[in-house]
Amino acid sequence: LEPAHQFMARVRAPGGVATPEQWLVMDDVAQKYGNDSLRLTTRQAFQMHGIMKWNMKKNIKEINDSLLDTLAACGDVNRNVMCNPNPYQSEVHADVYEWAKRLSDGLSPQTNAYHEIWLDKEKVIDSKEEGEEPLYGETYLPRKFKIGIAVPPSNDVDIFSQDLGFIAIVDDGELQGFNVAVGGGMGMTHGDTATYPQLASVIGFCAPDDIFKVAETIIAIQRDYGNRSERTNARFKYTIDARGLGWVKGELHERLGWALEAERPYHFDHNGDRYGWEKGIKGRWNLTLFIQNGRIKDYEDYPLMTGLREIAKIHTGDFRLTPNQNLVISNVTGQKKKQIVELVDKYGLEDGAQQSALRRNSMACVAFPTCELAMAESERYFPSLLEKLEDILEEAGLRDEDIIIRMSGCPNGCSRPALGEIGFIGKAPGKYNLYLGAGFSGDRLNKLYMENIGEEKILEALRPIIFAYAKEREEGERFGDYVIRADYVKEVHSGLDFHD
Ligand code: SF4
Repeated sequence: LEPAHQFMARVRAPGGVATPEQWLVMDDVAQKYGNDSLRLTTRQAFQMHGIMKWNMKKNIKEINDSLLDTLAACGDVNRNVMCNPNPYQSEVHADVYEWAKRLSDGLSPQTNAYHEIWLDKEKVIDSKEEGEEPLYGETYLPRKFKIGIAVPPSNDVDIFSQDLGFIAIVDDGELQGFNVAVGGGMGMTHGDTATYPQLASVIGFCAPDDIFKVAETIIAIQRDYGNRSERTNARFKYTIDARGLGWVKGELHERLGWALEAERPYHFDHNGDRYGWEKGIKGRWNLTLFIQNGRIKDYEDYPLMTGLREIAKIHTGDFRLTPNQNLVISNVTGQKKKQIVELVDKYGLEDGAQQSALRRNSMACVAFPTCELAMAESERYFPSLLEKLEDILEEAGLRDEDIIIRMSGCPNGCSRPALGEIGFIGKAPGKYNLYLGAGFSGDRLNKLYMENIGEEKILEALRPIIFAYAKEREEGERFGDYVIRADYVKEVHSGLDFHD
């Protein structure tokens, strides 16, 4: 007899893309083997929870049969490559998605082991000879590695939170290339100031055709120089902070045999999603639905999972998972739009219009009961805290004010809480650190405001700040900027002064 272990499976989907057929498979396996729900993650992947050990192999096999996989969705390798979820928004978005996919494919581990363990040695993709791992070598990377591509003015992928970020530079509707940003990462350890969230720094510009070479070379630098003796200090951000940005650039240029060009101007104005119907290229339509904390299931009075399943049965376009854990039903023809509108109405699916601006800009990680690293509740608790904050905002006349608010159940920071204008990081059951002052477009970290507080203190702390913001804010001033100007917290310029 052995313990009835249960597992989480994370399914990789570069740029968050799934066909309707793949959606139906995810839905089916989540019901057959999981806990009757699907989780859309902040890295545009699927997660399913509660899979019993004896069902894992069948689960992974069926996912692979649908041409999605769980390879490198976890581990010390390059993870799911993120990009703006909607390639049908413009030709440039379509180009960028192709680059994301090529990066994801090209940077996947070449190991046969995955197929041998989970797929009974059947080779489902071309793979190299056993033992040969050209980029990752025998020891893989010191730690996970995250890549994202942003298309300004949207910073929905939180480009500065990535180990390696590419910022699309577009001129006259044409993709010119990418600014390259290195060294972002959200994770830290409570009580250890040698660990901190950090934002990536832009180090130059490369042409589209060079993106793969640049990515591969940067990963190789981290493979060779990342800290392998101290796991909490092993992310690329620490390699850069220990050796300097100049060193990384020098090493990159030497290995490439050429230098990046000077960075080009760009501007981000938000990092959230835009909800509702939007017309994209070729007369196709896209509908962004609000999915609270990315959790897809049938709620008592809200048959979300069923509604999406019914849409998948008739949809001829794609599903796109957003970096904010929402969902785009994309590439919808004029004819199909009518049917989808009917299903959206029938199942009461939400496009965010019903929600407050705060909730539309909210994000929580999974935490309890399925994440073993959780120190406090996140996904299960956050909606009720939001309700109380919504009451305060309503009273202050700020119901329609966009404020980025995020919660994580531990300092690993899966929901990127250090980029919340209001951020919560769990410390113990019912207790959170409260952070304030991140930039609205994901370009500045927040700062600790109060430590280890419960709901009563959280509401007590935020109420006067929200009212003061309503009264004293300048024209167009964001909440995160206001709390710095009003001296509630100091501005954070780099992860190196996050704990000061
Ligand atoms: Fe789990 Fe921590 Fe990630 Fe939340 S932030 S899902 S608690 S590891």
